[in-house]
Amino acid sequence: MAMDDNCIFCKIVRGDFGTELVAESPNAIAFNDISPAAPTHVLVVPRAHVASLSELDDPELGAELLTLARTVARQTGVAETGFRLVTNDGEQAGQSVFHLHFHVIGGRALSGSMG
Ligand code: 5GP
Ligand code: ZN
Repeated sequence: MAMDDNCIFCKIVRGDFGTELVAESPNAIAFNDISPAAPTHVLVVPRAHVASLSELDDPELGAELLTLARTVARQTGVAETGFRLVTNDGEQAGQSVFHLHFHVIGGRALSGSMG
C-alpha cells in the first residue's frame, strides 16, 4: 500500500502512536482530531497515502470514505443533530496535512460561513 515515511497520517494508519480508532473500513480509518473544532471532530482518512482529493483517482475509495464518514456521523450521534463534512484541498484552502482527510464536524451549532 502506498505509504509516505514522513507523513503523520501514514504513521497513524500504521499504528505508530496507538491512536484509538472511532471507526474503520477495509481501506479507511477514522480517528478524533487532536485539536477539535467542535464536540465531534473526527478525521476520515484512506489507509493508503493520497495527498488530497485532487490526487484521488479511485472512485470506489471515494465512495468508501464518504460511507465511513456517514458511519462516524451515525455513531457519534451528529447524524441526528446535523454535521458538516469538509476537506481542505491545497494551500489556499488551508490544508496542513497532505494526506487526504475528511473532517466530520458537529455537536454544536456551526457558523454559516464557508470561508
Ligand atoms: P487540514 O488543516 O489539513 O484540513 O486538517 C488537518 C487536521 O489534522 C487538523 O484539524 C489537525 O488538528 C489534525 N492533526 C494534525 N496532526 C494530528 C495528529 O497527529 N493527530 C490527530 N489526531 N490529528 C492531527
Ligand atoms: Zn500519508
